[in-house]
Amino acid sequence: MTEEVEEVEEEEEKEEEERIEEEKKEEKRAEKKKKKRKGLFTYYKIEGDNVKRLLPFCERCGIGYFMADHSDRYTCGHCGFTRYKPTETEQ
Ligand SMILES: [Zn+2]
Repeated sequence: MTEEVEEVEEEEEKEEEERIEEEKKEEKRAEKKKKKRKGLFTYYKIEGDNVKRLLPFCERCGIGYFMADHSDRYTCGHCGFTRYKPTETEQ
């Protein structure tokens, strides 16, 4: 498992460099445009020596297909599967 983690970190660095270049260009065109951060690093959180997965995998597509986090549900961009979050009812 530790090997996988190292690969993820390397990809993050590359993507980050490319992103910085893109952001520079984008800032010139539209300064108000919000920066959307996409990439593997949005799905993992590194805490010390451990890597935490922030999002669940899709039940249909399997491991490797992350689901998008919405306020009340998770959705899979690959197959469209939606899973509602177990909500603590606020009533
Ligand atoms: Zn899916």
